[in-house]
Amino acid sequence: MEQLSFRNGAALNLDQISQAVMARLAQLDAAVDDSPEPVKRNGRLELQVPIGISVRHLHLCDEHLAILFGEGHALSVNAELYQKGYFAAKEQVLVVGRRRGIEGVRVLGPTRPYSQVELAQTDALQIGLKLPIATEGSDPACKPITLVGPEGVVTLPGGGKGGAFIARRHVHMSDVAARRYGVKHGDLLDLFIDGARPTTLHGVLVRVKAGWRNEVHVDTDEGNAVGIRNGQTGTLIIPIK
Ligand SMILES: [Zn+2]
Repeated sequence: MEQLSFRNGAALNLDQISQAVMARLAQLDAAVDDSPEPVKRNGRLELQVPIGISVRHLHLCDEHLAILFGEGHALSVNAELYQKGYFAAKEQVLVVGRRRGIEGVRVLGPTRPYSQVELAQTDALQIGLKLPIATEGSDPACKPITLVGPEGVVTLPGGGKGGAFIARRHVHMSDVAARRYGVKHGDLLDLFIDGARPTTLHGVLVRVKAGWRNEVHVDTDEGNAVGIRNGQTGTLIIPIK
């Protein structure tokens, strides 16, 4: 950005000072908000957002991590995720429903205050569970499920105390980006997917947290049904209020 320059010894007037201050503030703003610019079309905002396909996975609390993998065990990073600070761990467990189980379900880190298992509908049916669509393991509709690790077994009770569910499609956003787009945590948006099976997914839940990057998450069933490739972009439709 071009710096305002003042001749040596020249007295600054108020206009010049306020211009310099405004320029500096604009620089600071630009540093914080690196969210992409939406396009205004048909009376609404259209925003290109990368789509991540969430394969079945689980999150663990510290207590359950210790039971499943041994006291003092820390998760090790297998792959960093698109959201900074989050990772797919090397650790995997056997997840057991009412009829059978699925081996090798991956733990995502870091640990959380409570444990939860996120499956696709296909996974749930395979192991004999009828699962609700939910956002968090604290949702009272979550179902009981059993986890088997190398060092122990844990049964999550469900009913709001950690359990299994099918994740509601959602979009991650920073607080800065959400303010800029005029959306808030809990809003539901449409996402247009172009390609061989053009589709609009409705009810994409906005989830806001400082530091998050714009990213939509769908599960493997949704991704496969629409032909989404992991990392491709979709068009988020944002109403102008
Ligand atoms: Zn997500």
